[in-house]
Amino acid sequence: MFGLYEKPRVSGHGPGQEVTQSMVAHIHSACECQARLEAVVDRDLRATLGTATLRGQRDTAPALRVLRTEGRFDVSWTCPFCGRVVLRSFSPSGLAWQESSNTSVVDPATVGP
Ligand SMILES: [Zn+2]
Repeated sequence: MFGLYEKPRVSGHGPGQEVTQSMVAHIHSACECQARLEAVVDRDLRATLGTATLRGQRDTAPALRVLRTEGRFDVSWTCPFCGRVVLRSFSPSGLAWQESSNTSVVDPATVGP
């Protein structure tokens, strides 16, 4: 049942914040065709659930983390509207982590029998 344990709501990322396995962060950017690109990033900074929205139309935009270097990581989206591959850099320290309970993130590697 739900409601047995109250999970803390985290609205921002602080230096001492503990990021648990079940937490995710949302990142977003814009394509050159004006589509809004969004993705969910898990604790290991893997991008999942990439989507793009343009003029009210929403579609899947495959998102991948392509590089992680000291202090930042890069995410690429394949825009479903114009076909561009959009590469953007993000800083992990700027991410706002929250519980993923409202987001259907399923990692096959962590789903047991
Ligand atoms: Zn585009």
